[in-house]
Amino acid sequence: MNPLASNAKTLGCLTPGQELLKQLMLQPLGSTPLRVCSGGNTSRCAGDGCWTVDLHRHQEVRYLEDSGEVEFGTGLTMAKLLQVLRASDRSIPIGLSGLTGSGFILTGGMGPLSRSQGLALDSITAIEGIWGSGEFFALSTPPTTDDVRRWRALLGAAPFLAVVTRLRLRTQRRQSLRVRHGVITPSQLPELLQIAESWPETCSLQWSWGNRLEIYAVDCSSEETTPQTLKQLDPILGTDQQAAIQSCTDQLELPTFGRLASETAPSMPVHSEVLARLGPALGQEAGPLMQLLSSRMQQRPHGECRISAQQLGGATTRINRGATSFVHRGSIWKPWITAAWKPGDRAGRQQSLAWMDQVSADFSTSCPGVHLAQLHDHLPGHQGELIEAFGEWLPELRQLKRELDPKGRLPPL
Ligand SMILES: Cc1cc2nc3c(=O)[nH]c(=O)nc-3n(C[C@H](O)[C@H](O)[C@H](O)COP(=O)(O)OP(=O)(O)OC[C@H]3O[C@@H](n4cnc5c(N)ncnc54)[C@H](O)[C@@H]3O)c2cc1C
Repeated sequence: MNPLASNAKTLGCLTPGQELLKQLMLQPLGSTPLRVCSGGNTSRCAGDGCWTVDLHRHQEVRYLEDSGEVEFGTGLTMAKLLQVLRASDRSIPIGLSGLTGSGFILTGGMGPLSRSQGLALDSITAIEGIWGSGEFFALSTPPTTDDVRRWRALLGAAPFLAVVTRLRLRTQRRQSLRVRHGVITPSQLPELLQIAESWPETCSLQWSWGNRLEIYAVDCSSEETTPQTLKQLDPILGTDQQAAIQSCTDQLELPTFGRLASETAPSMPVHSEVLARLGPALGQEAGPLMQLLSSRMQQRPHGECRISAQQLGGATTRINRGATSFVHRGSIWKPWITAAWKPGDRAGRQQSLAWMDQVSADFSTSCPGVHLAQLHDHLPGHQGELIEAFGEWLPELRQLKRELDPKGRLPPL
C-alpha cells in the first residue's frame, strides 16, 4: 500500500461485498468522504479520520470467449488480470506496473500499448457499482439516451460519483514487445523527444529524471515489419550489451520502469504525492522547457523528487473529446511530478509540495491539461486541478455529483 496512506489514522477498513456496500452507502458514516482502495497505490486510498472501503473481496474474473471480453471485480490488480488473460492469449493495455488496481482503469490510465490500443478505459463495455447515493447501477455500451451522461462521467471521473465493483472490457490479442532501457544526459532529452514525436504509434517513449535520467522505449510492432525504431537510439544509448534491445513475451515481462533513475533504491520509506499533466507534441519547445526543468532538478528538496513522462497519441487521440471524462484527447505527453519527503518531516513535505507546484506551473503552458490519476482533495490545488482535468465538462460532472452523490459520500468535486 502507498506508504502515506498506510500511515493514515483512519477510522477503520471495511471490505463489503455488493449487498453490504449498498447498505453502507445508506448509513450515516460519521465522517465523509469514504476513501476507496483498489490497488492501494495512491496517497488518498486511506485518509486521516476517514473510513476506507477496500475492494479486495471483488476479485472474480471471467474471460468471455464468444465476445472476447473480460469481466472482473475491481479488487484485482492489473498483473492478476493479465495473468488470467494469458491463458486465452489475450490482454488489455495496462500501465508501467502490474501493481495498479481498478483506479488505473477508471482514472484514464495509460501505458506503453496505449498509442496502438487506446486507454484501458476506452475498452470498457460495462460498469457496475453503487452510486454515492447508495443506488445500484449496471450500465453497458451503447448507453441508452438517459444514461449517456452517466456513462461518460464514469469513464474518467468515477471516483467522485460511485464505488465501481465490476467492469467488462474488450481484450486484444496478447502482444510481444521490445524495450530499450538506458540512461542519457539531460542535454540529450530534447532531441530524443523530437525523435519520439515522429515514431509510429506502435512505439512509445517514457522517461524518468531522478539522480539520473532514465529512458524506456517500447516497440510493440511485429518484428518483421518495423524493426528499426529502437535502433534509432544507437547514437544516444550506444551499442553495448547494457543498452541492447530486450524482447518480452507480453506486458508482464517488461523490466521495472524507473529503477535506473536512482543509483540505489531508497533505504527508508518515503512519503510522496504525484501530480500529472497532459499536453500536445512539444516540437521546438522541448529545448527551453528541458533547460528550465534542469534547473528545477538541481533545486529538488529530496533525492526521490522526480519528473517523469509517458507518451500518448495514436489510438488515444481517435476518441471524441466528448465521449469520456478524459477530455484531453489531443495529448501526446503525460509528464508527472513526484514530490517526496521523509515521513514526519513537515517542513520537507511543504518544500517538496511547493517544488511540485512550481514544476507543474513550468509545464502549464506546454501541457495545459491535468491527468487526475491521484486525488488531491487534501491539497490546496485540488479545485484548480479539477478545472484543468475536466475543462468544459466539469459543470455537468458537478450536476451529476449533486444527483448521484448528494450527501458527498465520495471525494469532493
Ligand atoms: C508503480 C506505479 C506505476 C504506475 N504506472 C502508471 C502508468 O503507467 N500509467 C498511468 O496512467 N498511471 C500509472 N500509475 C498511476 C496509477 O494508475 C493511478 O495512481 C491509479 O489511480 C492507481 O489506482 P489503484 O487502484 O492502484 O490505486 P488506489 O489508490 O487504490 O485508487 C486510486 C483512487 O481511485 C479511486 N478508485 C479506485 N478504484 C475504484 C473503484 N473501483 N471505484 C471508485 N473509485 C475507485 C479511489 O478514489 C482511489 O483514491 C502508476 C502508479 C504506480 C504506483
